[in-house]
Parts: sequence; C-alpha cells; structure tokens
Amino acid sequence: MKFLFLIFLCSLNLCHTEGSGSAVTFPGYKVVRFVPQNQEDVEAAKKMEENPGILVLRQAGSVNQSMDVAIPPHMQTDFMSAARKQMPSSIMTENLESLIDRESMQLAMDESSSSTQTFEAVFTQYMPLEAVNQFIIQLQNLHPDMVNVSTYGKSVEGRELQMVKIEREGGSENKHIMLMDGTTHAREWISTMQTIYFMNELCEQDTPEVNKILDNFVVFVVPVVNPDGVDPNRNFDFGFGGIGSSDDPCSEVYHGPFPLSAPETQALSEVISSLKPMLYLCMHSYSQMMLHSYGCSQPGEINEREAEHVKYFISRSMLPIY
Ligand SMILES: [Zn+2]
Repeated sequence: MKFLFLIFLCSLNLCHTEGSGSAVTFPGYKVVRFVPQNQEDVEAAKKMEENPGILVLRQAGSVNQSMDVAIPPHMQTDFMSAARKQMPSSIMTENLESLIDRESMQLAMDESSSSTQTFEAVFTQYMPLEAVNQFIIQLQNLHPDMVNVSTYGKSVEGRELQMVKIEREGGSENKHIMLMDGTTHAREWISTMQTIYFMNELCEQDTPEVNKILDNFVVFVVPVVNPDGVDPNRNFDFGFGGIGSSDDPCSEVYHGPFPLSAPETQALSEVISSLKPMLYLCMHSYSQMMLHSYGCSQPGEINEREAEHVKYFISRSMLPIY
C-alpha cells in the first residue's frame, strides 16, 4: 500500500530570499486570520486569495479552517473592511517585517558564535543551501558505509538537486523504499531542518525506532526540492490545474505553463517513478496538519481506512512533543 503524506508543521518562517541572496522584505505587512463560518465564506475566502497584492500564508479549505494572509499597508483599510463584513477575523501580527528582522538578528548572533557550537547545535538554527550541502557531504564522510549523496538534476538557475540515500546492511531481505523531501517552498525553512534532523537521527542513533526503520526501509531524502525559490508545488502532472491552483503567473498558486515545466518537478518526478516509494513524506511548514493523498478529485488506489489508521498513529506519537 502506497501512502503519500504531506506534513505541515509549526512555525512562521516567512522571509524568502532571491537567487542573488538579497532578502525580500514585507514592510508594514499585517498578518490577518479569517475564519469562514459557512460555505459562502469559504468561497469568498478563496476569491480573496486570488488577489495578487496579498501573500497567502494558509489557504482557506473548509468551514472553520482559517485562512491566514499577509496584507501590505496600502491594501489594509479596504481589503480588511470588505473581508471583515464577510467573516470573523483577527490580527495575528501587526508588523510582519519586525518579526523577520528579529529572527534574522537571532540567526546572525547564532552564526557569530558558531565556532563554539557543537554538531548538535546545527539543529537550533536554519541552514542556508551551502550549509545543507556541506552537512550531507559531512554525513557521508562520517558514515561512508551507510550514506550516499547523489545529484538527480539541476534547478532552473543551475543549482544541483541533491539526494541522500541511507541504507544499512542487515534487516529485511526485501526492504521497501521510503522517500522524504523538504523545502518545496523556500519560505518553509523548518522543513529543511526536519529532513536534516531525520537523516542525522538515522545515522547517529541506535534506538529501536531507528532500527525498525533501517531494518525495513532504504531511505532516500531530498532536503531541498527547490533551491532557487520558485514554487513547484502545483507543477506536478497529477491533477495539474485543479482546485487550489491558478493559471495566472502573478498568483501565489500559479501552476506553471504546463505539467512538469519546471526542471525541479521534472527531475523529482523521474526520481519518484524510478524509486516507486512505498512511503513518501513531504515536509512543509505553517499550520499543524497531516494530509494524505489524494488532495484532488482524481480517483486513486489509496486505502482511506488504512491511511487514517497511519495518520492516527503518527499524530499520537507527535502529540506529546507539541
Ligand atoms: Zn509548503
């Protein structure tokens, strides 16, 4: 049975950077949460999301599931008064930029003291792409019998797309394939660190949980699906152009000109087709959700009951941590 899980975890990590390394800023942006009360509100919220001036942090999905948007100063009065007439809202953050500034300052402080940090301290901060690439090579050097780093393609700006294979001798004779990826969305920094942490645990820990995984799976991890900062999420060929995507190139949810038009999705889809993973975990952030396939109306072979069962066990194990 194949499962495709999209895991959305905590955190508000919003500052995406351009290829050149210069940071995009959000001066005066407010983060506002709208909560649809009925189906009419849900439709209105979806209409709001199409407004190219706002930044959608969490899309509206159903009644009582909130939509979070960052609104620039020049739109705040009109947009918010219109939206507030429709459904309840609350301001989550008065000034998005100051939050980001604070986080950048913390990162700079962490970096300046990095010479005194231990290997474990890696997990207390976010990693830029170069550090991720260094980390996986370091992991391979430390565990050459288990870890193999390879390149599976190039991004649109020519950066190498890296994949890590982790396999340990022993255990089951017919191991399944597990694939995990992170950083589909450039602003979801913690999803990179989730993959880094997971790889490190597999290599460094000798616990029953880790043994269970490595006795039964060959694990492949793509820590950075999207090293340039484009949004490839809606560019895959399955259910292309469906609900939650747009053909407007200015939209936050633009799906691209045609399926797999981005080299990142093309390369990853070839990896998926050749590996045929039994378990595929896609790490995202913002919100506390676990989604399983299919997120569109395409018919599929998923066993809903079994998927719910797995989701129940995952959420139960995560509950004590959050
Ligand atoms: Zn995401």
